[in-house]
Amino acid sequence: MGKHDIINEVYLQKALYYYDFDMEDGIVHKDIIDKYGRNHTEALGLKSPCSFDELMNRAYDKDYYAVYHVTDAQINNVNLDELRKAYDSGKNVVEAYIYMPKTEEYHRISYYLIPDDDTGKPHAWISAMDITADEKSREVIYGNLRSEKSEIEDIVASARIGMWHIYLFEKQKPSMKGSSMMLQLMGVEDKDISGEELYEFWHKRIKKSSIPSVEASVEEMIESGFSENTYKWNHPVKGEIYVRCGGTAMKVEGKGVILRGYHGDVTSIVTSEAKQKQLLNEALLELKKQKKLLQEALDNYKEADYDRRRDFLTGLRNRQDMFEMLQDVLSGKRENIKAMFMMDIDNFKMLNDHYGHTYGDECLERIGDALNEYAKNNNIYFYRYGGEEILGISFSDKKDAAETATEIVKLIAKLNIVRGDMPTGVVTVSLGYTTDNSRYEKMIDKADTAMYKAKDNGKNQWVCFEDMN
Ligand code: GH3
Ligand code: MG
Ligand code: MG
Repeated sequence: MGKHDIINEVYLQKALYYYDFDMEDGIVHKDIIDKYGRNHTEALGLKSPCSFDELMNRAYDKDYYAVYHVTDAQINNVNLDELRKAYDSGKNVVEAYIYMPKTEEYHRISYYLIPDDDTGKPHAWISAMDITADEKSREVIYGNLRSEKSEIEDIVASARIGMWHIYLFEKQKPSMKGSSMMLQLMGVEDKDISGEELYEFWHKRIKKSSIPSVEASVEEMIESGFSENTYKWNHPVKGEIYVRCGGTAMKVEGKGVILRGYHGDVTSIVTSEAKQKQLLNEALLELKKQKKLLQEALDNYKEADYDRRRDFLTGLRNRQDMFEMLQDVLSGKRENIKAMFMMDIDNFKMLNDHYGHTYGDECLERIGDALNEYAKNNNIYFYRYGGEEILGISFSDKKDAAETATEIVKLIAKLNIVRGDMPTGVVTVSLGYTTDNSRYEKMIDKADTAMYKAKDNGKNQWVCFEDMN
């Protein structure tokens, strides 16, 4: 048996069900249909215990039934506070009608409030419905109902759209209660919002140009009951839309008025908004995918670009990169060069002869690593200029060139790359530099010349071109 069938059967038989229901915490703890062995909460697909709101909302959502109370207590929708008030004012039976869409019938239903043994306050209610009541009483009920049929139908329809209650009590700020659909329409569904704030939200959402007609229809409702209106509304996502609105007013003796009603078309607005959200989410997901691809491409490019600019063996920058850098200096994209350094490994040929080419390569690699490390903190760039010749271009303001030259020469010797074929016992370089800020070809020549001077002077040292002669 499907859920619909269960629900319908519960109502179509002489149904009696019982909610053990805590009025204070709003939780439905038990719901027993002893007589027929069916569980109403489960039939609605809910777990027990569940909240009262959950129970009512699910019932509306599922299109199972809608409830309209038209009796003494005038409770529209089962409302805890109202039930409690009704009880406090001496009523322990609340009469209501229940509408069943399948049969399009209204049935009388009674809520019996059960007091707690200790506190005497209502803590549970029993709903009982007898549709097999005698013809006569049924006629009376239906007679009453028929006269209010169109009103009830509207309100029944509204049970699945945006229900609201507005309280206009004297000397109090207007406040409002809204169904979950109504809150969705206002874009406050997940906010913790007071009745007064909610009213303000509602009022804000109505387009200014529509407010006079809304106010007129409220007046009309207070005067003559039911009123309909169509007006413009600022939807938080969709912007301006039209909504239908209808309702009734009830005067509360000596206090003020309660307006109850619905906003029409809300279901379709909210559904299409959900669709929009879904489309937006899909687009976002696609965008994320694209972004990831783009990032990957960028990473690949960066890696390829790095490789393109670096010498494979030493990891130092290559001449291609050097020319691009010099181009940037010439075009003014970079500041002027402070100093140029040319270094050449001492007696490298002999090292190769003595230890073999592989050792020579390793030696170049280690020198490359050391210089790359040094470059990180010293605003200097190193390029593999020739086989074992390395060019340094410095932009440093902090260190003067002589200090840098000293550090580089020491740095290489301190690597302690063993070579027994030399009196020093380790690999060394000779270095020449210039600080003359002229054309870069000239600077390279000058550094080179100074480097040869350092070789002549005995290697493992530096010479400044400007100090020569
Ligand atoms: P000097 O101190 O005067 O510079 O003497 P040198 O032996 O270093 O002379 P020179 O600079 O003319 O010799 C360069 C040698 O470096 C020639 C070549 O065998 C070696 N060389 C150049 N590139 C590489 C390389 O990639 N790997 C190895 N293992 N050796 C290289
Ligand atoms: Mg050389
Ligand atoms: Mg050499």
